Amino acid sequence: MFTIRLPMAMFEAVNASPAVPRSQRRTRAMLVLVAALSALLFFALGAHVLHNSRGQYEQRAELLTQNLAQALQHSVTANIEKIDMALGSIVEHAEQQLRRNHQDLDELGAYIASQSARRPELEGIRVTDAAGIGIAGPGMRDGHRYDFSDREWFIVQREHRQAGLHMSNPLVSKVAGRWIVSFSRRYNRPDGSFAGGVSAAVPLEYFMHQLKTVNVGPHGVVTLRDARLGLIARASNAPSARHEPVGSTQVSQSLRALVGSGAQQASYQAISTLDGVQRRYSFRRLSVVPLIVIVGASEEDYLADWHGEVWFVAGLCAAIVLLYGAGSLLLWRALGQTRRAHRRIELLAKVFEYSGEAIMVTDHEHRIIEVNPAFVKQSGYQPHEIIGQFPSLLDSPRTTQAERDAISHAMHRHGLWRGELWDRAKDGRDYPKWLSISEVRDTDGAVTHYIANSIDITDRKQAEDRIRHLAHHDTLTQLPNRVLLHGRLEQAMAVARREGGELAMLFIDMDRFKNINDTLGHPVGDGLLVEVGRRLVALVRESDIVARLGGDEFVLVLTGLGSEGSQAASTVAAKVIAELGRPYPVRGHELHSTPSIGVALFPQDGKDADTLLQHADVAMYHAKSAGRNNCQFFSADMNHASAERLELEAGLHGAIERGELFLHYQPQQDLASGRMIGLEALLRWRHPVLGLIPPLKFIPVAEDSGQIEAIGAWVLDEALRQVAQWRAQGHADLRVAVNLSAQQLRCDAFAEQVARSLQRHGLPGPALELEITESVAMRDPTRTAALLRRLREHGVALAIDDFGTGYSSLAYLKQLPLSCLKLDRSFVMDIEHDPNDAAICTATIQLAHSLGLGVVAEGVETATQLTFLRRLGCDTVQGYYISKPLAAADCTRFLGQLPARADEAAAHAHAATTAAATEVV
Ligand code: C2E
Ligand code: CA
Ligand code: CA
Repeated sequence: MFTIRLPMAMFEAVNASPAVPRSQRRTRAMLVLVAALSALLFFALGAHVLHNSRGQYEQRAELLTQNLAQALQHSVTANIEKIDMALGSIVEHAEQQLRRNHQDLDELGAYIASQSARRPELEGIRVTDAAGIGIAGPGMRDGHRYDFSDREWFIVQREHRQAGLHMSNPLVSKVAGRWIVSFSRRYNRPDGSFAGGVSAAVPLEYFMHQLKTVNVGPHGVVTLRDARLGLIARASNAPSARHEPVGSTQVSQSLRALVGSGAQQASYQAISTLDGVQRRYSFRRLSVVPLIVIVGASEEDYLADWHGEVWFVAGLCAAIVLLYGAGSLLLWRALGQTRRAHRRIELLAKVFEYSGEAIMVTDHEHRIIEVNPAFVKQSGYQPHEIIGQFPSLLDSPRTTQAERDAISHAMHRHGLWRGELWDRAKDGRDYPKWLSISEVRDTDGAVTHYIANSIDITDRKQAEDRIRHLAHHDTLTQLPNRVLLHGRLEQAMAVARREGGELAMLFIDMDRFKNINDTLGHPVGDGLLVEVGRRLVALVRESDIVARLGGDEFVLVLTGLGSEGSQAASTVAAKVIAELGRPYPVRGHELHSTPSIGVALFPQDGKDADTLLQHADVAMYHAKSAGRNNCQFFSADMNHASAERLELEAGLHGAIERGELFLHYQPQQDLASGRMIGLEALLRWRHPVLGLIPPLKFIPVAEDSGQIEAIGAWVLDEALRQVAQWRAQGHADLRVAVNLSAQQLRCDAFAEQVARSLQRHGLPGPALELEITESVAMRDPTRTAALLRRLREHGVALAIDDFGTGYSSLAYLKQLPLSCLKLDRSFVMDIEHDPNDAAICTATIQLAHSLGLGVVAEGVETATQLTFLRRLGCDTVQGYYISKPLAAADCTRFLGQLPARADEAAAHAHAATTAAATEVV
């Protein structure tokens, strides 16, 4: 049972797992086969041994029965010979009397009595005369006449001169009433004629006693039969033995056949017809009388020991097979494990070999022990040139010692470092790479290796630099634009603040420039602007800032002024008026224009860049109103803005409760399918007196006065409530994008607030997208990253708003769990005309896609822009061309009118917005 079951189970296991490779399956099948065959071999061996030993037991049993039969033959013969001797001596006595011619019957009777006494087994010894009348023996002379002439023994003795000793068939004694046989002889007259017979009865019990002395085991049998196989006596201890009547000839076929063949002795096997026991028999014929002794040993007895052996051998075999099976099973498992481990190592080696990332492994002392082909390609060093060296071989002077110390420190503290780093290749070229180093520890916690993965980010860096340059410079004049101005201005302010100096900002607007543009065309206007830029740069020092804000607006920032800010500003302003007032020869025209200049001083007129710029702008307007071609310094009464600010701040208190705030929604269209996939929620404030106020005006106030958190929370909840309603109306996948302010991200419970709000409206995370600007994302990178990650875990999508206008490194943005970038409206605006903007859009879309991010283009106003963006591979568009921001009710209508077919969607969308309510801001 065991031998069959185990291999079957193994085969099933082998066949059931298709994942196991073929060669492994073959080995396992072999293993199973070998196990099964050896099990079979063990059993065959056991069977063979047992078979042999059984043969020996059988031989021994046969020998035993033969020996016992022989012994019995001898003892029965000896006893019958003793009986015969007794009969013979009586014959001799009777014949002597006859020879002496003196037959004395009393004396003969006395002699018989003496013989009877010597041989108690002999009962009723009788002597007859020739006519068969009893003449001597017990009871013969008491006056009774006993006639034996009809007895078989008498007739045999009378008729056969040479009859010798004769034994009768068993019969029941008339005297004693039990079974006996009689033995007889004849005696003769001196002339040899028949004188009479002598007979003696022997009870069958006598033979029975003799048979019982033979020990053939508890189930053996000893039998005495006559020549016709009639039963004389049978001795058996077998409990199942039935009584067999005397004279019965119920014997096995084997015995009958052997006796019939005349054999004197033989052995055979048979199942007893009497008790059904299997035995081995031996028989022998007696020579004195026609008797047969049969000795039978039962199989149960003579194989008793052998059965013990069978159990022992079977147990041994089972134990061996069990051990063997268990051994094979263990081996089988171990084999599988080794192979799996081997395969895993092979796979890992391949990963190492083919990884696109350069991988370097060092020992705990930082000695390089392994590099992969990507590393060789990146660094230019062949493995034999670098293995055994230290990573410092790769150092580039562009990475400072302080940066390297920071890495060591981080490794020491966290066992991990990730960031950008410059290295030097073998050919001397410096290249930036994005590197992560992690340590490997053994089970005792000791560092055994360091693994450094890196990718060459030269291309990305270049693209980034290009974008940054494009985004920060004006392509026409190559001057810094508004974004870069902002950055530089803040830097300069920090320095001035530290050193206690002043700054002067000159806001310059060229008078009547629009006229030139309109009458002589853009190329001429552009030529004038380029020249303005050139003259301004020539006027100021290297450390000063010259920027073009757009159109004909320029800004000059004078730095390092000490306390003489206004003095310096006056001097420079005078020079600017003189220089820019000179004629401009452009394309064969001589152009005339003059500057209007507004001046604001730091710190007195504004403590931050925006305020300073705004105040310089205000002053410039004053210069315009004062008749152009002059310079005005900012003064407090010029500034209505701050009063307006206070008014707005006061008005915002309670605006939510009074229901003055509401949301507009601007649809976002997926370019591939044409479907509206989302809406951006845009905040509106209807002031009871001032009317609608644009968000760019009141949101900074809310941010400064700390009201933005409450307002932001309201916007989030309201937008989610509304989108839940639309989703319930059948726009199942619709998503709402909500803009965030920096303060909102600073709140610790923000992620939980978002999750609660989603839950309240029964929305999944992906129903919400949060928009943050680059500068907001970069404000506290680690905290923000952790917060955004928590939001992302809820499934909330994250977008970088106004992308391209900030300064952030994409490598750091990449660390944030973002889903898309929103390409700023300012780039989309002139995408068809301005190659600079087109280049920014192209590079941004490519870069975003390479980082696995989607791109939403904002401010799409024309079909041409849309086509252009589609060609660049932009994913999503948003803008007046699709739809202006709509009030919720209008938006419901807009969504309801959308056609089912995607290609119609864009055209339809455009038509729909033109028809829909126009933006009221
Ligand atoms: P944004 O996030 O860049 O929003 C897009 C702005 O572009 C919106 O101005 C929108 O009306 C306008 N716009 C959309 N398509 C076009 C187009 O084709 N052409 C033109 N010229 N403009 C288009 P809006 O509504 O005045 O919002 C201005 C800014 O206010 C937003 O800029 C956003 O920074 C901020 N804002 C709006 N709502 C919220 C708010 O709920 N929370 C916060 N923190 N800021 C908000
Ligand atoms: Ca936005
Ligand atoms: Ca935007």
